[in-house]
Amino acid sequence: MYCRNCGKEVPVNAEFCTNCGVRPLNAENFCQNCGAETRPEQEVCLKCGILLKKQKDPTRKNQLIALLLCLFIGSLGVHRYYMGRVGSGVAMLLLYLSGFFAFLFTIRYRGLYVLAAIAFVGFFVWWIIDLISIATGKMKDGEGRELGKGR
Ligand SMILES: [Zn+2]
Ligand SMILES: [Zn+2]
Repeated sequence: MYCRNCGKEVPVNAEFCTNCGVRPLNAENFCQNCGAETRPEQEVCLKCGILLKKQKDPTRKNQLIALLLCLFIGSLGVHRYYMGRVGSGVAMLLLYLSGFFAFLFTIRYRGLYVLAAIAFVGFFVWWIIDLISIATGKMKDGEGRELGKGR
């Protein structure tokens, strides 16, 4: 079998290509049977006539789920944990919480409203940017892969 990403020969049913590290069937550049070059829209290899295999990456994170998580519980950074970006997800949660608690304590310490405002504005801008970059498909998961579309 050949890697459909780089065209190098790989063991049959290999999880990852030892040459390029991509799942061998998770690309559309080469025929998995003979290693001939293929185009993404091709269904059948022109050289050996075999049906070109396509593999959906099962670990790919879903774009719609990420978008919904961001929209409804984005303040907890959940969409970032979901995409494997735990560090920045926690940072987002802390930013939101610090704004929230600073706001709570403005009753006692009025000066804190500046801190609360900065945290909330910062969080809000970050949240909007996340929403837009997930919706437009620019947001990658923690391993730098694009989010999957559909189911
Ligand atoms: Zn490869
Ligand atoms: Zn072929």
